[in-house]
Amino acid sequence: MKGKVIIISAPSGCGKSTIINAILAEGDIDMQFSISATNRPPREGESHGVNYFFLTDDEFRQNIADGKFIEYEEVYPGRFYGTLRSEIERITSAGHNVIMDIDVNGGINVKKQLGSQALGIFIAPPDIETLRQRLINRGTDAPDVIEQRVARAEYEIGQGKKYEACVVNDYLSAAIAETRSVITQFLN
Ligand code: 5GP
Repeated sequence: MKGKVIIISAPSGCGKSTIINAILAEGDIDMQFSISATNRPPREGESHGVNYFFLTDDEFRQNIADGKFIEYEEVYPGRFYGTLRSEIERITSAGHNVIMDIDVNGGINVKKQLGSQALGIFIAPPDIETLRQRLINRGTDAPDVIEQRVARAEYEIGQGKKYEACVVNDYLSAAIAETRSVITQFLN
């Protein structure tokens, strides 16, 4: 397989999508975003084939049975997310590198399969209390959901230690610059 794969993982609320989008928007690094498949419904503003391939439960199951995923995980109860082999193939066969936003378990799985062809970057919050405060300030989740996310974040931060690089998102612009620099070093 041509091309290298950059795996980005982070607990929710750590600015992962903002960092990825900022780096992709600069457009000077030869890499394309891997669009995952999921059985969760689209959120407002999301569309099929752009943010995700939105599949029904049956379609998702069929893809698993057909071996179409390089990895998939049940990230939240009943909510499956997976990276399609065809998506990686589409990007790498055109000679580009891949950047993927997947959860820690999926990331560790991809790294096991691809070895030195892949690099894992974990984006961490400065500390758990800051993460809790960010989720509260965001105002989108009920207190019990926030506590679930915080608990999951603690698990993810533990797993994130298996990644080659860890970027602490304390100041967004610094985190973007650091992530960029780790990616550039890996690709060159
Ligand atoms: P959201 O529903 O907020 O878009 O994503 C929820 C979580 O699913 C995020 O942690 C994201 O990284 C993860 N995720 C998205 N796509 C994939 C994928 O293809 N595989 C795995 N394992 N996780 C994914």
